[in-house]
Amino acid sequence: MASEESEMDLGLRGKVAVVTGGSSGIGLATARVLLEEGMAVAICARDAQRLEQARQMLATYGDVLARPCDVLDKAAVTGLLEAVQDWRGQCDLLVNNAGQGRMSTFADTTDADWAEELRLKFFSQINTIHAFAPLLARSGQGAVVAVNSLLAYQPEAQMVCTSAARAGVQNLLKSLAGEFAPDIRVNSVVVGLIESGQWERRFEARDDRSLTREQWLATVARNRNIPLGRLGLPQEVARAIAFMGSPAASFITGAQIEVSGGLSRYV
Ligand code: NDP
Repeated sequence: MASEESEMDLGLRGKVAVVTGGSSGIGLATARVLLEEGMAVAICARDAQRLEQARQMLATYGDVLARPCDVLDKAAVTGLLEAVQDWRGQCDLLVNNAGQGRMSTFADTTDADWAEELRLKFFSQINTIHAFAPLLARSGQGAVVAVNSLLAYQPEAQMVCTSAARAGVQNLLKSLAGEFAPDIRVNSVVVGLIESGQWERRFEARDDRSLTREQWLATVARNRNIPLGRLGLPQEVARAIAFMGSPAASFITGAQIEVSGGLSRYV
């Protein structure tokens, strides 16, 4: 990486990335790492104001395009594609990161909740991959990296529909890795608990108001038995995404990297 932490050249310089959900958390950190690697980076999210704040911050690291876009809106995704085509005329890496988890048990998940969650998890992949596949195929080193959750492999009862949807997405990505080979590699990063937007929202909604942010996060890590003893940082996920999306991972497709501090209990 370009930072002093690593000397490996990922081979991303001069290439173009699209990062969905690039205004916060893992997506924002990924955009920054990719810019530091010498890529031009397009980000999208729904909230235009937060997106513009992210664009301004990222612009200090390199060439950024920001375009408001709900990835569930096919016309908006087409608009994002056209904007990237006008801007650079190429796309070498698509990072499908946009989304959020849903806390609910089977008993309190309605049919409408199921439909909404399945739509979010599947179409946040399908719409963007449909749109960008032709550009990625033309790249010669095109790659998709999906941000998915450890829940895909290790479901939790209080996140029942998110867990099931995420397992389906891993299955979909495996099929796509086959269908798009050898033109586009398709991989995922499966994350555990990462300090970002959704944990900020859960902290704000915490029951015990006496706990500081650090104390509350430490309690979460302890209760979840995370072997490395803490939640992950967005940039720790971003580095794995950058590797999976780069020519340094040229023989890797249909695979996943787990970034969870050792949280998984399966072999
Ligand atoms: P954040 O809430 O910090 O960021 C989510 C980003 O996605 C924001 O930029 C948000 O912007 C954008 N977004 C959400 N929905 C859409 C949409 N429909 N279209 C376009 N952009 C959208 O979350 P994280 O960084 O924590 O999460 C990133 C990904 O990682 C998500 O898919 C999440 O589910 C997954 N993940 C995270 C975990 C964690 O512990 N943090 C655990 C497991 C999975 P806006 O709202 O303005 O659209």
